[in-house]
Amino acid sequence: MNVNRFSELVDISEKTGEPLDRVVLHWEMLDSGKSPKEIMEKTSELLHVMEEEYESHKGKTFKTLVGLTGSNSKKMYEYLPHAFIGEKVFTAATIAVLMAENNASMGRTVACPTGGSSGVMPGVLLTLEKSGIERDKLVSGLIVAGAIGKIISVHASLSGAQSGCQAEIGSGTAMAAGAAVHATGGTPRQVSNAAALSLKSLMGLVCDPVGGFVEVPCVKRNASGAVLALMFSDVAKAGVESVIPFDEVVDAMAKVGIAMPESLRETGKGGIADTPTAQKIAKEFSKKFKL
Ligand code: SF4
Repeated sequence: MNVNRFSELVDISEKTGEPLDRVVLHWEMLDSGKSPKEIMEKTSELLHVMEEEYESHKGKTFKTLVGLTGSNSKKMYEYLPHAFIGEKVFTAATIAVLMAENNASMGRTVACPTGGSSGVMPGVLLTLEKSGIERDKLVSGLIVAGAIGKIISVHASLSGAQSGCQAEIGSGTAMAAGAAVHATGGTPRQVSNAAALSLKSLMGLVCDPVGGFVEVPCVKRNASGAVLALMFSDVAKAGVESVIPFDEVVDAMAKVGIAMPESLRETGKGGIADTPTAQKIAKEFSKKFKL
């Protein structure tokens, strides 16, 4: 199966009637030499890590590398019953922040697609799980998400240093939106639309970690990614289409990444990293950690 673009996977699924996750499994099997069973078991293990890390850390604080975050998920966890935006959405944001704080504290992380954006996917999947979506459907969703990430990595980038945060939180959001559509019974075309709508919304997002540490703004950006992913999953399932197809959005993102100045690509020199407060914090870090 010679697949180069996401639209080809969608076309195969539509023409053959084979579910999109099965099409992805066959593609991955030819690429990696692993059997569909092995890939599914590995994917299930990754979901298991997300589940375990969430269960063992919910409502707790984290000691992160430089201490710019660590108690935000706890605050959000406690605030949950009062959340105006609704329980499911706030839960997704809370889990995303928790997993990102866990990453910032050197905890066990599923880099999906990267450590900095590792809260988005569990924010979405674990919220779906809490809402009654069966585990095997979540695994299937994660398999589909893997294909979205793979296509982005081939035609654009998953690296903030290379293409800005659009490549990390943007890609993570597109992957999670696709996973949510698939896991909740949406069509392959809706998966593609949800991924495109998500990536378009975060296109141009710069990578600007304060002091160069993956804490601010990274942790809270995971919350916005998880919420956007769930929103665009529903938007796509409502029948809204992305005028620009997903594969073209990926190409556009690659060009934006190339056009982005170095200061906005994980150097800690631009965006919010260049604000007076961030500069002050960075100076304090250099003194404290003798950088
Ligand atoms: S700001 Fe940069 S380091 Fe932080 S999550 Fe985004 S891409 Fe990663």
